[in-house]
Amino acid sequence: MNVLFFGPNGSGKGTQGAILKEKYKLPHIESGAIFRVNIKGGTELGMKAKEFIDKGELVPDEITIPMILSRLQEDDCKNGWLLDGFPRNKNQAIKLDEALKAANMSLDIVVEILLDREIAKNRIMGRRLCVNDNNHPNNIFIDAIKPDGDKCRVCGGELTSRADDQDEDAIDKRHSIYYDTDTGTMASAYYFRDLAENDDSMKYITLEGKAALPDVTAELVSKL
Ligand SMILES: [Zn+2]
Repeated sequence: MNVLFFGPNGSGKGTQGAILKEKYKLPHIESGAIFRVNIKGGTELGMKAKEFIDKGELVPDEITIPMILSRLQEDDCKNGWLLDGFPRNKNQAIKLDEALKAANMSLDIVVEILLDREIAKNRIMGRRLCVNDNNHPNNIFIDAIKPDGDKCRVCGGELTSRADDQDEDAIDKRHSIYYDTDTGTMASAYYFRDLAENDDSMKYITLEGKAALPDVTAELVSKL
């Protein structure tokens, strides 16, 4: 089962991906990690990518696509994979589709988590970290895991927040790319949705991201 996963930052995409990985024993492949491995390993594509990253430029698709494809062809992907964080725009979607077809790889399922931009932003900015345990979930904007006053709802510990989660400009920038339905990430999701309409071997699944995390997981599993 080869799966492509779409969802804005703040939609719980990472968590759902991790659950799928466990349940179906699929490697969870994140595009950011592929870059890091290639750069650290000094591969030819990695070195080329690094030149662009060092200049603060976007890595061209001619480098990114082969890098991702080669990752999807590794041994641990024989029984399927779960790709997350790529494509980010419509052009990349078209090129990924071409590359998969050229490599004779199927794309079986595309998952899109639906969530309003405002809610997604609140969910990121509302995250709180318990000083006693990182695994104590607290979020001032999610009823199910709302802190107890200003203390951890699990253990009563002090709460802090990550600087990244409070960087509103950075969140807005990433969301502007994601929510762009003309050329951005949503446009790339729609590209696959349109393909799936005419291709019985490909399934396009949408999930209501507003629901509580376990309910989103249940909906996902029931639709796979
Ligand atoms: Zn706690």
